[in-house]
Amino acid sequence: MVKLRHPIPTLEEFRTQLRRHGLRATRQRLLVHEAMMELVHASAEDVQILLFQRGTPVNTTTVYNILSQLADEHIYNRRPSGNNIMYFDVDPRRHLHLYDRENHTFRNVEDEQLSLLVAQQLKRRKFKGYTIEDLDIQIIAKPTRKKKKL
Ligand SMILES: [Zn+2]
Repeated sequence: MVKLRHPIPTLEEFRTQLRRHGLRATRQRLLVHEAMMELVHASAEDVQILLFQRGTPVNTTTVYNILSQLADEHIYNRRPSGNNIMYFDVDPRRHLHLYDRENHTFRNVEDEQLSLLVAQQLKRRKFKGYTIEDLDIQIIAKPTRKKKKL
C-alpha cells in the first residue's frame, strides 16, 4: 500500500482540531469522524448508514450539519460530484482525486509532480478580473469492464 502523504487524523488529533476551532468534542462529532476515518470521502447518507450499521445511529440531517460545519472550518473539505449530492473529504489539504462518475466514489491520487506541473503552468496564466485562489484537480473516470462474450 502507498504511504499517504496526509494521514487521516486520529480521534485524538481530531479532538485537538475541534478545540483549536472552538468546537466541543461532542459524542456525535466524534462518531462522525470515526466513520469518516473509514470512509475518507462520503456523503451524509454514507456516514449515516455506517453509523446505523455500527449500532450508533445519528440522523442524516445531524450528520450533514456536522460535516458542513467541519468543512466550513476547513477541518474537512467538500467534493463536487456529478450526482448533485454533496460529498465530504476527511482531508482538507490540496490533493488529486479520481472520481468514478458511475459509482460516485472518490479516490486520492498520490501524484505530487502532476500537481506541481499544473500549478507552475498556472502561475504564467492571468484570468482578467480574477485572482487564482486554489487548484483542485479531479480526474473523471468510469470503471473499465470486460465485455461479456455472447
Ligand atoms: Zn481526498
